[in-house]
Amino acid sequence: MEFRIGQGYDVHQLARDLPMWLGGLQVPSEFGFVAHSDGDVAIHALCDALLGALALGDIGRHFPDTSDEWKGADSKDLLRRVMEMVRGKGWEVSNVDITIALQQPKINPYVPRMRDVLSSVMDIEKSQVSIKATTTEHLGFTGRGEGCEAMAVALLYRD
Ligand code: MG
Repeated sequence: MEFRIGQGYDVHQLARDLPMWLGGLQVPSEFGFVAHSDGDVAIHALCDALLGALALGDIGRHFPDTSDEWKGADSKDLLRRVMEMVRGKGWEVSNVDITIALQQPKINPYVPRMRDVLSSVMDIEKSQVSIKATTTEHLGFTGRGEGCEAMAVALLYRD
């Protein structure tokens, strides 16, 4: 069996009165993400981890933020397309693990549903999708509530 591992990282700026799409869900919040797409940092980091595992570049190369095609894009569609690339090359996902750093709101209550949504989009088991949430203890741009960071790793295999 062959294995590939990839990692991804994404940041989006927060601004008042925008929808907060995170982990495939709309999370109730006064703030949302400034972005060309829906700004779902968790999915963007995950897509980069999957692409990175196969050295396929990054999400910006496949879905450029200069293209009208991806304006307001639902990041779940981007993830679906990335999974088509992964499976198209004969690879399957072993597991993915995502960490979201956000000062507020607290997102732990939403994590089980995020895992449901992402595993469904990726057509894998919920047990293969880990999502963890942290604050940065009021430190840095994340701690000041200016933005949100997400990191992801993905392990792929093929027989
Ligand atoms: Mg992004």
